[in-house]
Amino acid sequence: QAKRTPGTSLAMAEQRFVQMSRDTLATEQALRKGIRNHEFYLEYQPKIDAASGKLLGFEALARWFRPEVGQVSPVEFIAVAERTGLIGELGSSLLEQACCQIARWRSELGACVPVAVNVSPVQLLNPGFPQRVKALLEHTGIPAESLTLEITESAAVDNLEDTRQQLTVLEELGIKVAMDDFGTGFSSLSMLRQLPLSTVKVDRGLIEPLPAPDAVAVVRAICQLAAALDLEVVAEGIETLEQAITARDAGCHVFQGYFYAKPLAMAEAGAWMERLYAEQAGASSTGGSAA
Ligand code: C2E
Ligand code: MG
Ligand code: MG
Ligand code: MG
Repeated sequence: QAKRTPGTSLAMAEQRFVQMSRDTLATEQALRKGIRNHEFYLEYQPKIDAASGKLLGFEALARWFRPEVGQVSPVEFIAVAERTGLIGELGSSLLEQACCQIARWRSELGACVPVAVNVSPVQLLNPGFPQRVKALLEHTGIPAESLTLEITESAAVDNLEDTRQQLTVLEELGIKVAMDDFGTGFSSLSMLRQLPLSTVKVDRGLIEPLPAPDAVAVVRAICQLAAALDLEVVAEGIETLEQAITARDAGCHVFQGYFYAKPLAMAEAGAWMERLYAEQAGASSTGGSAA
């Protein structure tokens, strides 16, 4: 005890490390229990067509309600699931929930609502992943086109060739792939060309400062590149009308953000969809059309 010098940065780092592993352990056990007890579920955030204002589909976002603790952020539990190898099991369960929801909406509403699901690098690079997705499509009977997988750059940067191979198999099944959070971190422009993508999602960090001219210039450049590569552009994190207008004028095709809707519980998402369809039916019958 006397030898210890608690004030030194080494001792503090050590203490932090011990605390960190303890947190991870606690969460890992909780995560296992949570998976067993089906505590994980999805919320659905609408994606809106920038030109017409129509609903195009949803992004599914993982949620965890821990009975003793409350709501835990996916940023936290996904990281722990990745570190501990539980992401495979958790990711499969979430993907299955999303496909089942597409199937349910399809039979309830008679419409095939596209849903995008986030996929972690570890999950994507698992050799059996494309086969498992294929089996899931067959099991739920949903068309491959209704499913988009959102991947992040970090996976692709570290393992470009493996990522490309996995995505190629998925693309051949008819599944769409979106590059998430583009424009931050280690965005590699050539990666957009090397991977079989259908969509680029401009990170919220680039949408937030709109309509600042320098931010407009960056978003416009991404949109021009995307157009040249025949990629659809989604603007993430639209919170104001001004951001929506600026993003649309810069070339973004799809909006997602609190300005339109927060991530919604399954039932709310269904109701939102019915309301929107009704409004659109009303608008078109009175001759109104989005110009
Ligand atoms: P992401 O895929 O980029 O998802 C968008 C995040 O931005 C979501 O946070 C969403 O709730 C939030 N968001 C949407 N619109 C707005 C807005 O207008 N303003 C602000 N401030 N935020 C907005 P969320 O749900 O906390 O998820 C955070 C991240 O966790 C996701 O980022 C994704 O990387 C990861 N994640 C979520 N669900 C899953 C999952 O099922 N699997 C995997 N591997 N990762 C997931
Ligand atoms: Mg995403
Ligand atoms: Mg994103
Ligand atoms: Mg993001």
